[in-house]
Amino acid sequence: MTALLELRAVTKRFGGLTAVNNISFSVAEGEILSVIGPNGAGKSTLFQLISSFLNTSSGEVLFRGQRVNNLAPHIVARKGIVRTFQETTVFRSMTVRENIIAAHHLRSKASLLGFFFGTRAARADERYFGESADNLIEFLEMQAIADELASNLPQGHLRALGMAIGLATDPAVLLLDEPFAGMNHDETMKMVTLVKRLRDERQVTVLLVEHDMPAVMKISDRLIVINFGQKIAEGTPSEIQNNPKVIEAYLGSEDAAIGM
Ligand code: ADP
Ligand code: MG
Repeated sequence: MTALLELRAVTKRFGGLTAVNNISFSVAEGEILSVIGPNGAGKSTLFQLISSFLNTSSGEVLFRGQRVNNLAPHIVARKGIVRTFQETTVFRSMTVRENIIAAHHLRSKASLLGFFFGTRAARADERYFGESADNLIEFLEMQAIADELASNLPQGHLRALGMAIGLATDPAVLLLDEPFAGMNHDETMKMVTLVKRLRDERQVTVLLVEHDMPAVMKISDRLIVINFGQKIAEGTPSEIQNNPKVIEAYLGSEDAAIGM
């Protein structure tokens, strides 16, 4: 079986600092794979390299066997590798539903010109986008806030909208950087269920960076552990929990012990 996503000796230097050092791993289609490690380990940088928000210093990222590193982020997103958007990407003056519809244009078959001139393809897209947006709103259980202006939404709902915007682009791979940050236990468990449904019902492959260890262990098929930019372990949740290198990395950092 060929990997959906493959990193080969990916390295990123910021001046004298090697934030990501020679990291290789593969992700299978339909997998939920988490990247964990202490603060400053290089997790977010790794995600930015995969999504082409940063260029690699060396190494390669392959998606369905094709190189995708060092392209523009929107090109990579069109290929199906999508980061969930930060809350700041949301159009505050538009409703939830309007935001989700707007996000569909990233994958539109009709050009933006077609959209303005109302070509048949663009009209067909508009109909499809509306239906797809409603479908996503239902999937994310956002019906009650669909017509609310984004500017009125509390943090939790904004984050859900960020997820909806990412999903509207119909990703093959979704990159989630600390999706549970700031959430209480119930909210986290709801999000865990949602991410699993994304994989089970929408066949989305998920890459996740997260500090909440109980949630990570519950959600992941496999984990990659990085420390000081290097991969120190890779395996199933139970393999990782018992790996001495991992325990040492966590105990030696300011993060609380791995706490599972
Ligand atoms: P993590 O997400 O694991 O906490 P990051 O990937 O954010 O870690 O950061 C890894 C290291 O790279 C840190 O030492 C950080 O200070 C550094 N770093 C991240 N982004 C930049 C940047 N744009 N310029 C310089 N250094 C950076
Ligand atoms: Mg980070």
